[in-house]
Amino acid sequence: MRVLVLGAGQLARMMSLSSIHLGIEVLAYDVSTKQVINPVTFEVSNSTLEQEVERSFAITAEFEHIPEDVLAICESSGKFYPGARSIATGGDRSKEKVLLDEAQVSCAPYALITEKSHFLAAVDKLGMPLVIKTCQAGYDGKGQWRLKSEDQVERVWSEMAGFIESGTLSAPHSIIAEKMIPFDREVSIIGVRSKDGECKVYPLTENQHTNGVLTLSIAGKEKAAIQGQAEAAFEKLATQLNYVGVLAIEFFDVGGQLLVNEIAPRVHNSGHWTQQGCQTSQFENHMRAITGLPTGSTSLLRPTAMINVLGQESIPHTVLSVPGCSSHWYGKQAKPGRKMGHINVSADNLHQLGERLAELADILPEDDYPGVQDTSHALILN
Ligand code: ATP
Ligand code: MG
Repeated sequence: MRVLVLGAGQLARMMSLSSIHLGIEVLAYDVSTKQVINPVTFEVSNSTLEQEVERSFAITAEFEHIPEDVLAICESSGKFYPGARSIATGGDRSKEKVLLDEAQVSCAPYALITEKSHFLAAVDKLGMPLVIKTCQAGYDGKGQWRLKSEDQVERVWSEMAGFIESGTLSAPHSIIAEKMIPFDREVSIIGVRSKDGECKVYPLTENQHTNGVLTLSIAGKEKAAIQGQAEAAFEKLATQLNYVGVLAIEFFDVGGQLLVNEIAPRVHNSGHWTQQGCQTSQFENHMRAITGLPTGSTSLLRPTAMINVLGQESIPHTVLSVPGCSSHWYGKQAKPGRKMGHINVSADNLHQLGERLAELADILPEDDYPGVQDTSHALILN
């Protein structure tokens, strides 16, 4: 069985690696170079998108900013999951908010902006501080502004206007202003929905970001009440989209109440821990769902943390001498801040996970791997 993934990065690579044993062969379409490649060996094929769409049993995507003509070709094949609507919703914050309102799932108060009067009205209505985001094209905290005081309004507006003006008639640009939420922490839920509508959800994950980029995730320490809230949101949103495959939802936890930050219609960085923490990883479950195979268990096998490797040429090999540790390397050329790989560490219980993170903190410099030491202390004290 052959699956074509739109996008040729590490997520396509891990989907491929996770489904070899199912007899699934994965090829990836790099939308920027328009080449079809093997996402594990990076070997370039001389076939075209159209040929691969024809040959594939199923088509999916590893990111949401995909040109409309490519989406249309895939959608018309009838083999594209989770499908053009879900991908477009994840790639445009204004569509995302419409979905959240339709499904009656709470998010931060917001206002859509396409001209200056909307912006001034939003500042008035929502109050400051505001988080302002481009509706299209943002990722890893890029395409965002923070508005904290009146004297920043003109400067921020001139930058916002530049983005709005760079849109076209067929692909208009817009901006969303959100009330800045004083959250206690950020969490996410990853789940899978099958073709017959069955939902299975992984344990909630706590996520730490540094400069807008995910640096560390921990799974296996959440209470049932908050897990229940996240699962309810997952079911509503996945059902509303008639979704097939893995869907990720990021939340703000405000005093035990979850507000949705955003959704990602794909496997997600905050679900990489499932490779070691669960019987069936997010990657394998996504491949199973889109090819119509039964989905696998999403229950926790053992508490697991994931540490992102950002911008490093390699990882110290001693990491692998820490019990319960495994490393995952993406085979990319190093650039500052670039996601190069990740480390998963599992343990029998949260205390032991804290001890193992403490061992890792002795190996990994705090500047390059923020939060490992603090997280280990918090787990050991609990
Ligand atoms: P990614 O795609 O990597 O998840 P992104 O660029 O899509 O990131 P968001 O997740 O929307 O952007 O925002 C990045 C970070 O900014 C969030 O993880 C959160 O820490 C902060 N943030 C975003 N919106 C708000 C808000 N309304 N209130 C407070 N903080 C916010
Ligand atoms: Mg985000």
